[in-house]
Amino acid sequence: MFISDRAKRIAPSPTLAASAKAKQMQAEGIDVINFGAGEPDFDTPQHIKDAAIKSLLSGFTKYTPTAGTLELRKAICAKLERDNGLKYEPSNVIVSLGAKHSIYNAVLATVNPGDEVIIPAPYWVSYPEIVGLADATPVYVHTDETTGFTMTIDQLREAITPRTRMLILNSPSNPTGGVYNRKQIEQIAELAVEKGFYVLSDEIYEKIIYDGREHVSIASLGPDIKKLTITVNGFSKAYSMTGWRLGYAAAEKEIVAAMEAIQSHSASNMVSFTQPAAVAALEGPQDVVDAMVAEFDRRRRYIVDRLNSIDGISCPTPGGAFYVFPNVSGLYGRKYNGKVLQGSADFEAFALEAAQIATVAGYGFGADNYVRFSYATSMENIEKGMDRLEKAVLRLE
Ligand SMILES: *Cc1c(COP(=O)(O)O)cnc(C)c1O
Repeated sequence: MFISDRAKRIAPSPTLAASAKAKQMQAEGIDVINFGAGEPDFDTPQHIKDAAIKSLLSGFTKYTPTAGTLELRKAICAKLERDNGLKYEPSNVIVSLGAKHSIYNAVLATVNPGDEVIIPAPYWVSYPEIVGLADATPVYVHTDETTGFTMTIDQLREAITPRTRMLILNSPSNPTGGVYNRKQIEQIAELAVEKGFYVLSDEIYEKIIYDGREHVSIASLGPDIKKLTITVNGFSKAYSMTGWRLGYAAAEKEIVAAMEAIQSHSASNMVSFTQPAAVAALEGPQDVVDAMVAEFDRRRRYIVDRLNSIDGISCPTPGGAFYVFPNVSGLYGRKYNGKVLQGSADFEAFALEAAQIATVAGYGFGADNYVRFSYATSMENIEKGMDRLEKAVLRLE
């Protein structure tokens, strides 16, 4: 069968593979605890669902403008001003089928074949694949727990070449939970303006941030960096709406127009009757978000303590998102069932077989000494999962 070179270059998502294996074991009746989930375990708030139902029943079921209804783009502009200090008009905003789709459109609209895109590692699995689909080259900047998984400005400077077109910034980060502080973001902005590259700022976890940390939108730091920034956000994480497929981007009008042209020939507009629900999410009560973050925080503290009490595992405290990214390389070299653990894939398999817990190996995020645990699961599951992992590690030889 002929398959295009482009499609053959794409690696299937390691996060989805891990969750498929866990689901298969669950179907076989095995009690697997899932730390693999990349989505909140809370339901979408009722007032948001009600808005979609009302819209559907009222017959709002036809094509909308490609970039989204004017009402929704206005609500996004109000949100960006209120939360992020960003002044935009509806023509600066495009609504897409999830933040992932906005990122894809943004890269296709601004990056040429052969251009370089700087991606700090550990990275979200889709960034390199999206850059690859644009026939551009990912350039990785490796970070670890000694800097809270944030790159230093010197590291960024060293990665820049004449072909650098874009930096993808993700703070708070999936998979590490790393958060860049204001000073770091200022330094990055300065360098981007000096060298003239775009910054794609994926701010999907902006609301899920702990210990009084401040989320800083890089585009808010002045008119020059604002011109170079594409801010991406969405509804999946803050409002537990992963299945709704609602995301958006804000940028200079020319960039948004190019993204809109691409989207008009692929997805067109996103689902009509979800758009009034997105307005309800932005304009309705925000205490639902605070309650979710408070519960995530409680789980975060617990799972970090439990993981750190296991010999061979070292877990930094993440500043945001709902993942921990412990270093498990202290277990490499030990044996399970006669087989030596040699990397994160071996740890993932060991955790699933010996402890019936599903995790995601770090190699897919560009970091083989680590494993991602999502704590978007109940406290009861976390306790049970940590008990099992503790026992299983004691059995390693
Ligand atoms: C979940 C996630 C997204 C995309 O979310 P959508 O469901 O497509 O809106 C984007 N970036 C990161 C880092 C994510 O974890």
